[in-house]
Amino acid sequence: MVETLEFASPMLPFVDARKAFRHEQRIAGYLPLASLKNLSAMLTDNEGKIEAVLTFRFDQDRRRRIDGELWATVNVQCQRCLEPVQISLGEQFELAVVSTEAMAKNLPASLDPWLSDAETLIPADIIEEQLILCMPIVSTHSECNAAIVHDVLEKGVGIEHSEQIEKKQEKNPFSVLATLKNKPDTH
Ligand SMILES: [Zn+2]
Repeated sequence: MVETLEFASPMLPFVDARKAFRHEQRIAGYLPLASLKNLSAMLTDNEGKIEAVLTFRFDQDRRRRIDGELWATVNVQCQRCLEPVQISLGEQFELAVVSTEAMAKNLPASLDPWLSDAETLIPADIIEEQLILCMPIVSTHSECNAAIVHDVLEKGVGIEHSEQIEKKQEKNPFSVLATLKNKPDTH
């Protein structure tokens, strides 16, 4: 496939906004993760790359549209064992380039704003932000996730158990304290 071959080259550093939308420019390529500082700060290492394709065009409402798709495999910290966990991300996005906040607010919900009134657009900035937006809030190894589910189930059983004890020991004034101490953290 021709499209696969396009990713063999680096993403263009700049796009001429005066021409890109008019000429329906379509660009594809890769960006090293090490070149994306904000994203790298969220990862355990910056090895690897993002592959992306961007299409510039005017839509039927004469909006300057950037439709794109990206793919990346990155390492983030597992929220249970704190070791790196590899996650694969894929995201499609539809942006409208707007020059003011007011224009951004008037966009239909299906379009996300990209605020810029510059004559030059920087594809790396657009792609990095879209990747950050699609990053999961919490990542875990599948076995760590299974352990979390197990812990929650255990705690669930624990709550039921302490309620039963409470009922049995209602007349003991110390039982309230004992129940409070044993109460699992519900956060
Ligand atoms: Zn883990």
